[in-house]
Amino acid sequence: MSSPIWHPFTQHALTPDATLVTRGEGAWLDIAPSGLRIASDATATSPVGGADAPSGETRRLLDAISSWWVITHGHRYPRIVEAIQKQAEALDQVIFAGFTHPPAEDLARGLIDIAPRGLSRVFYSDSGSTAVEVALKMALGFWKNQGPKNGQPRTRIIALEHAYHGDTIGTMSAGARGVFNAAYAPLLYDVVRLPFPAAGREQETLDHLKQAAPGAAALIAEPLILGAGGMLIYSADVLHDMARICRESGTLMIADEAMTGFGRTGSLFACEQADVSPDILCLAKGLTGGSIPLAVTLCREEIFAGHYSTDRSRTFFHSSSFTANPIACAAARANLEIWRDEPVRDRIAALARAQEERLARFRDDARFENVRRLGTITAMDLKVPDAGYLANVAPELMKFFQARGILLRPLGNSIYVLPPYCVTAGELDLVYDAIAEAAGQFA
Ligand code: PMP
Repeated sequence: MSSPIWHPFTQHALTPDATLVTRGEGAWLDIAPSGLRIASDATATSPVGGADAPSGETRRLLDAISSWWVITHGHRYPRIVEAIQKQAEALDQVIFAGFTHPPAEDLARGLIDIAPRGLSRVFYSDSGSTAVEVALKMALGFWKNQGPKNGQPRTRIIALEHAYHGDTIGTMSAGARGVFNAAYAPLLYDVVRLPFPAAGREQETLDHLKQAAPGAAALIAEPLILGAGGMLIYSADVLHDMARICRESGTLMIADEAMTGFGRTGSLFACEQADVSPDILCLAKGLTGGSIPLAVTLCREEIFAGHYSTDRSRTFFHSSSFTANPIACAAARANLEIWRDEPVRDRIAALARAQEERLARFRDDARFENVRRLGTITAMDLKVPDAGYLANVAPELMKFFQARGILLRPLGNSIYVLPPYCVTAGELDLVYDAIAEAAGQFA
């Protein structure tokens, strides 16, 4: 079967097939009963999961990366599905400039209640990238609106080495430069890049920040772990010190918790572990339990006040058609209720322990290095000759895992496991057995 779809982050010449997913439940995805994949090239059809896939039978994939880090409680979590259904019967969509609705109001209040202290305003958008774009625009708008009494407005952005903040032009600029964005380099703005605060090199990062922060508009950082940069973990102490340096220089701190938010790192928000209250906080992915797109950018009152004026030119000029879509807000409201009513924190703590136990066998395995964990996330680097994101081993590994019924999508030679919180111990064993087997074949 041919398909006209151009898939994201997909080199169609090397990966002509897309696996057809028909259903999701808990940690599992059902894939096409026909045993065929949708191919982007009419000649390319192949059995699901490789030659040994039983054709005509539904196969399942264990979603060990939470479908690109979004699913938190599990696919089709009943309370979220119910909230979506109920809201769809009342109000599907409404313009949000000058209008509002109950799910958006409830959700905004609920988020302020649970967010790091000091965040008092909520701006809605639809993805991690837009949440970050909004954050960067809020920061620059804030400084511009301070007026000439404070000299030149601050415009410089500071970001971390290996950072990833999205794929729009603005967010790519803040992200690390590399093969992903080389073609668009002429459109990207310069930022001050801090060295990654790897263990033992924290002071270097802090020294760079001390130099760069005075006069800068904002520091943007993924707290405690850089996701797309390779699941690189850094300490809560250094994050705390980074926030302190920003505060002392009057530089705004933007925490991009698109990936880390809603429990991934072991706490509701990663910032909590460093006792950091950012000036601006970006949330996306797990905000709706991963069920439907929605994002928010929360900010401190001063940033809102910096735009508050009878002068229209000081307006925060940002919107998108589906800002605060009522169905998405209802899903996110249900997610907050789940966090309030159910033992989600206990589930996360148990998952973190189960992950740690399963890492033990890899810690002394010479075929791996940098075996690491933060909260519910684990990662390890397979020793291969061509490491890095474009390592040939990545698509091979993905195919290998898929043939064993597991959805893992290594970042180059870094294999990471980022499962939904409903995953069981037995299911985790399947994942780690497959990783051990992969090492036998690829390392
Ligand atoms: N920031 C971070 C830290 C992310 O991990 C991502 C997505 N992987 C984004 C921003 C962009 O989010 P989205 O893909 O929803 O635009």
